[in-house]
Amino acid sequence: DLPPAPHIIEALERAARDPGKHGYPGYGGTPALRRAIADYYAARFGVTLDPAREIVALLGSKEGLANMALAWLDPGDLVLVPDPGYPTYSMAPLMVGAEIYAVPLLEERGYLPDLAAIPPEVARRARLLWLNYPNNPTGAVAPLAFLAEAVEFCRRHDILLCYDAPYCDICFDGYVAPSILQVPGAREVAIEFNSLSKSHNMAGWRLGMAVGNEVAVEALARVKTNIDSGPFLAVQEGAIAALTGDQSWLEERNAIYQERRDLVVETFNTIGMPTATPKASLYVWPRLPADGRSAEEVANWLLEETGVSLTPGTAFGPHGEGHLRVSIGAPTERVREAMARLRRRLAEG
Ligand code: PLP
Repeated sequence: DLPPAPHIIEALERAARDPGKHGYPGYGGTPALRRAIADYYAARFGVTLDPAREIVALLGSKEGLANMALAWLDPGDLVLVPDPGYPTYSMAPLMVGAEIYAVPLLEERGYLPDLAAIPPEVARRARLLWLNYPNNPTGAVAPLAFLAEAVEFCRRHDILLCYDAPYCDICFDGYVAPSILQVPGAREVAIEFNSLSKSHNMAGWRLGMAVGNEVAVEALARVKTNIDSGPFLAVQEGAIAALTGDQSWLEERNAIYQERRDLVVETFNTIGMPTATPKASLYVWPRLPADGRSAEEVANWLLEETGVSLTPGTAFGPHGEGHLRVSIGAPTERVREAMARLRRRLAEG
């Protein structure tokens, strides 16, 4: 619900007034945008990227996630996807005739997949592994040691590791989310997807990026030359301002999200739907009471009874059963009102 900082909007506005910024933008992002992405990765993660070969700009990261399937998979190929997980990881492979193997994310493992439990014949066949931390929908984060384990797993089995990190700049309590490219040697097997949608409040601008393994970046970029013609140049100017300008406003923005997170966590912990306190992301993942009702039934019931819309965990896969996903991307007063309604209704029994 929050807008980007004024200097970003001013850069867009300035560029939109420039008659030279309305033609075809060229594929993959201007050299200046790719340089800005490299500068951001260097400053934020200490990761050095070659703007010419290791970066492609996206029209929001979602099209990149989907087009990666077109770029990398043949019919019958196998893709490892987290369950629960962002639906595009599964839907895009299915649309190109590939097969899905769901890897469960379980609470007792901190919602990190047990890669060692993947059967050897499945690992041998797999061509892609999707991972996403900070995680949608569970709010879980992954330590660098787990990311190193995932890189090693993908190296051993010749799998392309697709790491989706759009929430990496929405962190709380001093936590700092890593890039998978911080793992030594990661770029030999990994491509990372990122986006200004959440990090800089620019979801409607449609500006994302894929960075890392140059073979994967090239394959994705080549597919995209047949599908789109690059982001609007004025949007690219705004993105450059977002990536290279003052970042201190993100701390104030995260403080707003943190207040909402605390409101939600406290409420669910007092109404019998216990939840961990997420260190990052825009999501809280409370556990439902074991009263025989499905997550969808509870979400529908709460919507009817209170007007509060929550997502059933099963929207993200069968292992989301038993959970609701609560988004903190609504104005604080609205979140407060929603939590008050839930408390009132659940107090009635
Ligand atoms: N990946 C994850 C995990 C998401 O939750 C989302 C959006 O909700 C996206 C990718 C897509 O973001 P965008 O296309 O706006 O960059």
